[in-house]
Order: sequence, then structure tokens, then C-alpha cells
Amino acid sequence: MARPLIATIDLEAIKENYRFSKKLHPTCNALAVVKSDAYGHGAVNVAAYLDDVVDAFAVAAIEEAIELREANITSPILLLEGVFEQSEWPLCEELGFWSVIENRVQLEWLLDSGSQIEKVFVKLDTGMHRLGLDQEGTEYVVKTLKDSGLVKEVVLMTHFSCADDLSNLETIKQLALFEGVNQSIGSIPTSVANSAAIMKWTVPEGGWIRPGIMLYGISPFADVSGEQLGLKPAMKLTSKVISVRDVEAGDAIGYGQTYKAEKPHQIATVAVGYGDGYPRSTQNGTPVMISGDSGELVGRVSMDMITVKLSNQERAVQLGEEVELWGGSVPVEEVALMAGTIGYELVTRMTKRPLRVYT
Ligand code: PLP
Repeated sequence: MARPLIATIDLEAIKENYRFSKKLHPTCNALAVVKSDAYGHGAVNVAAYLDDVVDAFAVAAIEEAIELREANITSPILLLEGVFEQSEWPLCEELGFWSVIENRVQLEWLLDSGSQIEKVFVKLDTGMHRLGLDQEGTEYVVKTLKDSGLVKEVVLMTHFSCADDLSNLETIKQLALFEGVNQSIGSIPTSVANSAAIMKWTVPEGGWIRPGIMLYGISPFADVSGEQLGLKPAMKLTSKVISVRDVEAGDAIGYGQTYKAEKPHQIATVAVGYGDGYPRSTQNGTPVMISGDSGELVGRVSMDMITVKLSNQERAVQLGEEVELWGGSVPVEEVALMAGTIGYELVTRMTKRPLRVYT
């Protein structure tokens, strides 16, 4: 029998979440963001299932795009970080990749390579200060691209730093700067919205939205779950009880004795640990479900195991009972909060060890 840890991935849920993003912006095209192995959901499987419905995919870098082409994915693929060397431009032409240009060197490499690229997204830095050109650089790059005859369409893009915080006016400032620059270059097609902006901010219509985390049914906001936003969680992480024991009042559980039983109860050991991506930083009280009954983590997360107890101490735990770690009745956002992180990180940093099962 194999180790019973399984990530069940509901591909239809991802498709529905994609359609949901488009329904919110019927005039926009949507780039399905499948970088970082589709946020841990398996980029090849996700892209294969979505290939006939998406307008295009987006990944971080060319290696991820090549992986998809080698798996016979035919939709256009945008490289969100752009190219890292000149030799990537001819590959973009050959394989039908679109690219971001976020600095002048990437532009020079394109001009030198003479590659024909269908779409280039020129990135304006409106306040994130991570990637992107200033206003003058943007105007120069857009004009040069248009004059070059190498690119069929130029899109102006930016990325928000605080769209997940609805009380933060930075998004309004970024949008205003963006719209001003777009007017100055003659109002070309645009792309600004990540999941938070798609769901909660007013963004320019008619361009390209970039749904990422929402595709996987996870909320970009700290205080709302994906389900509360109308999304369908795509990943359910489950394992099984592999050992059961009784402990007495005063017994400590696990490394560092971070939990001590206050009264006698059962401890169930479950096959999942930080070696699988379950966060070691999470705390006593993190929710789990044991065959549909609520329970909680007690003691420290080990590399391969966790220890849990049922909330209802009257009911005995059996070896082999199914334990849900997140995705069904346990929102991944709640586990993330207990671990001091975000749902994005939990799913993305899952290791290769949990078996992925696609439904
Ligand atoms: N656009 C860009 C440029 C990104 O870097 C990302 C993800 O980090 C996304 C869109 C998707 O963001 P989200 O997952 O919050 O929807």
C-alpha cells in the first residue's frame, strides 16, 4: 500500500473559475496564469484541460512555456517576466510565445534578433517597483516596437501592489498613473488586473485580465475564503490516520513538547508533514477533518507526520480514517492564516511527494 497522502485536483473547478473570471469582465480576454506548476496544481494537466477554453496562458519564464508546448498545449503563452537573454526571442517566434518587455535591454535584444512576435506586453511600473519601465521608458519602448514592424500588437500592462487590500488607495493611484500614460501613448489595449482586482476593483474594460489564484478557487483576500467569493476550490489534500494512541493528562506530544494534554484523550498520527509542503509554522488548533468530523492539529509538524485530535472526545478514532487537511470543509485560507502565510504559498510549495489525482 502506498503512503496515503493525496492531492485531488478538480480540473473542472479550475475551468469554472476561469469562466467566472471572464463573466465578471465580459469585454476582456483572460490570461490563465499557470506559472509555478499552476500554483502547485500541475501546469501540464491544468493547461491541457483548459487549452480549448482559454484565450491564452501566462507563465513566469520560457522554461515553463516550453514545458507546455512539449505537452502539445497550443494556446498562446505569455512570459510574465520577459526574456532573460536574446536567444529566447527566436524561440518565442518559433513556439508562438508572447512576452512582457519590462526594460530597454529586452527591447534591444528583440530588435537585434529580428524575431516576429505576435503580442508584446510593455510593463509600466506604477508603484510596485519590482519590474517595469517609467513613463518615458514606456513611451519609448511602445513607439519603438510599433515602428519596428516586428510586433503585431502592443499591450500596456502594469501590476498592483495592494489590490488585495480594499481599503488601500494605492490601487487607485496606480490606476490613475496607468491611465494617464496610456492616454499619452494613444490608448492601446491594456492589462492590469490580477485576481483581487478582477473580483473587487474597477479596471479598464476591453483588455486582458490575468486571473491566477482565483483559478484554483483560493481567495486573494485575508478575510474571505474562495468559496465565499463564489469560487470552487480545486485542490483537496487528504491523508489517513496511520497510528492511534491514548495519552494521559500531562503527556506531551511531538518534537519540542509544544502541546501537553490537559486530560486523557486519543492522538491520531496522520501521514503528512513539512516534507510534503504542510507548513511547519502552523500551530496547535489548525483545523482538520477526520472522516468528516472536526479535529485539530496538536504538537509540532514533523517532516512526514502530524498529530491530531478529534474535537469530540467521545468518538474513537480508527486506523485508516481519512483526514482532510485542506480543500473541502477546511479552507486552505484558514490553514494559511494559522501558519502565518497565504493560500498561494501553501498550494504552490507542495512538494512532489503527495500523489496528484485529477478528477
Ligand atoms: N499578473 C502578474 C504579473 C503576476 O505576477 C501574477 C501573479 O503573481 C498574476 C498576474 C496573478 O496574480 P493572482 O494570482 O493574484 O491572480
